[in-house]
Amino acid sequence: MVSSSSLAGHGHPKVVVIMGATGCGKSRLSIDLASHFRSAEVINSDKMQVYRGLDITTNKIPWADRRGVRHHLLGSLDPDDGEITPLQFRSLGEDAISDIASRGNLIILVGGSNSFIHALLADRFDPEAEASPELRYDCCVLWVHVSPTILKKGVPERVDGMLRMGAFDELAEYYHLRRTDPGARVGLRKAIGVLEFDRYFEKYPPTRVVGPGEAWGREDARERQSDPVRERAYQEALLEIMKNADHLIKGQVEKIRELRKSGWVLHSLDATQAVRLAMAPEEEGGGGGRSREVWEKDVVGRSVGFVNQFLRE
Ligand code: ATP
Repeated sequence: MVSSSSLAGHGHPKVVVIMGATGCGKSRLSIDLASHFRSAEVINSDKMQVYRGLDITTNKIPWADRRGVRHHLLGSLDPDDGEITPLQFRSLGEDAISDIASRGNLIILVGGSNSFIHALLADRFDPEAEASPELRYDCCVLWVHVSPTILKKGVPERVDGMLRMGAFDELAEYYHLRRTDPGARVGLRKAIGVLEFDRYFEKYPPTRVVGPGEAWGREDARERQSDPVRERAYQEALLEIMKNADHLIKGQVEKIRELRKSGWVLHSLDATQAVRLAMAPEEEGGGGGRSREVWEKDVVGRSVGFVNQFLRE
């Protein structure tokens, strides 16, 4: 349990920051840490997950996985109001930090948008200037590092999983809404998946399935597959999504390295082995149990050590 006095710092709230590329397990670590330290709250710093909507496509942590941990700026903004700027995020994040600090709880900032993290934490933020190493909070920055080769290998499976969970329906509904009202939910228009599926939906407009569990676009895969031109257009959209997810990973890692070069102190946690094992088939030593063990030891255990030390300082 964390005592409020250990979080007060020297007048600056203490903030645990979790950085890392998409698919490395940041959200999972945030919940593991919040559960370990009990009185903790999470602030999201993913620029697409701040909006309501496209929950599967933007990969928001599902309710069940949050294990009762309170989240801020996660699906709380209206995408109809347009895209927020890093400066606006700085102000919203500041309010969330003050709010959590007033309850004496541990603050965990987590998300893949490094420009938002920088905007919130920099002592003086200038959108035009280079990254600044001077921070306005007492921070313990954890970098969940996974070899980009391994992360990229996991992309097709992640995309497949999202589609199985209903990303296609979400995207079909989003497309339909923007068709009827081009200004609708503009905040989300850059989420990976939206543009990539545009061309497909232009040729094959989504239809509404009426009745119980009413949804947009639910496609009959067999019907699609029986039309080779249609199937090719669908596969092209998926390929574009995977390509852009690869780009996102590359950009995120570059940005983190830049922040480190500018003077940010990062505690690096190597989650490569844990992620590799989670992806590997059982006969190659993979599977849930072994991966969980490695994750607990390499990532959670070491993070707890860094955070404990930070809280004592
Ligand atoms: P920059 O603003 O310099 O591009 P950043 O760190 O602010 O970098 P990223 O989080 O890297 O922002 O996001 C860049 C782009 O990647 C977003 O504009 C969006 O197109 C896409 N993206 C980011 N996060 C998600 C997400 N959760 N779901 C879907 N697409 C995303």
